[in-house]
Amino acid sequence: MDSRNLAQCNKRIEAALESSGRALKDITVVAVTKKVDLPDIYKAIDLGVKHVGESRIQEALLKFEPVNAYARNKGMTIAWHMIGHLQTNKVKDAVRMFDLIHSVDSLRLAEELDRQAERINKVQDILIEVKTSPEATKYGFLPDELQKVWMRLVEFKNLNIKGLMTIAPWSKNPQDSRFFFRLLKKLSDTVFGQKSSSPILSMGMSDDFDVAILEGATMLRLGRAIFGERKY
Ligand SMILES: *Cc1c(COP(=O)(O)O)cnc(C)c1O
Repeated sequence: MDSRNLAQCNKRIEAALESSGRALKDITVVAVTKKVDLPDIYKAIDLGVKHVGESRIQEALLKFEPVNAYARNKGMTIAWHMIGHLQTNKVKDAVRMFDLIHSVDSLRLAEELDRQAERINKVQDILIEVKTSPEATKYGFLPDELQKVWMRLVEFKNLNIKGLMTIAPWSKNPQDSRFFFRLLKKLSDTVFGQKSSSPILSMGMSDDFDVAILEGATMLRLGRAIFGERKY
């Protein structure tokens, strides 16, 4: 990992914020550490990274204790983000480890999360994943579908819906993501209404986070932009 990557990310973030008239405090960067080895994660923590995102439970289980121990020694606390598809048989581990689960993509998963969170007296913060484009991902609620199930989702006592998440389809041109980010923002305005606490919009990855900020992202999920190309 090259420490200049983080500086470069911050430059891009600041430029996008400036053109959108938004403030740095409105943006949270989640460093996506999937397929990243512990030494590079430690280096990121040394550089101030506090939010870590993993997409697989098996991998998160291997990193959770050592990364927390490393941060604790530095007087820091890591916030853990689950960003990948979650199978119901892994939910028990997920509610134990993660501060925010971005990838709640079905009612069945929400039910199981609610049940396992209740068992450990936790109110689990979640985001609802929206399939803004059919080809980008297999997972997530379609926008129409989400509006239909919304009242059921908000009823779970041990789940706290903090916002929405989406993945834009891969494209050579980052501008192509704009349509999907705009759709998520619009859907968020619809389902959350004009509530006082502003919902989280988790959108934007290494190639298109500038566009995401311009479209209202509050949380960016950055892997390669921070850690370089994944080795495998
Ligand atoms: C891998 C991944 C990211 C990070 O992707 P980069 O292109 O490396 O920034 C973000 N979100 C999800 C859901 C991912 O799986």
